[in-house]
Amino acid sequence: MTFVIAEPCIGTCDTSCVEVCPVDCIEGPITVDDIKEIQLGGDTATLAAIQLYIDPEICIDCGACEPECPVEAIFEEDDVPSKWDKFTKLNADHFV
Ligand code: SF4
Ligand code: SF4
Repeated sequence: MTFVIAEPCIGTCDTSCVEVCPVDCIEGPITVDDIKEIQLGGDTATLAAIQLYIDPEICIDCGACEPECPVEAIFEEDDVPSKWDKFTKLNADHFV
């Protein structure tokens, strides 16, 4: 079992989840430091094209990230809303 990051992360990417993950399995397409710099610079257009992903091979299903997300983007795999079904594969594909 794994947790999955879904659509609400896109354009938010505040990285709160990354800080609490005990196995460091949450990543974006660019580094967390770069994401923070983009936020500081207020570049919302770039942020709108970014989300973070959870590596299903490493996630230990601890749930620590879920309550940290300010936009409720994180779900246990079985609880991903059907409208965001594709995000389970999108998360896994990021690490292939
Ligand atoms: S459930 Fe735990 S291990 Fe999995 S991504 Fe969230 S914090 Fe990391
Ligand atoms: S806490 Fe939520 S919005 Fe922030 S990076 Fe993690 S999943 Fe995305």
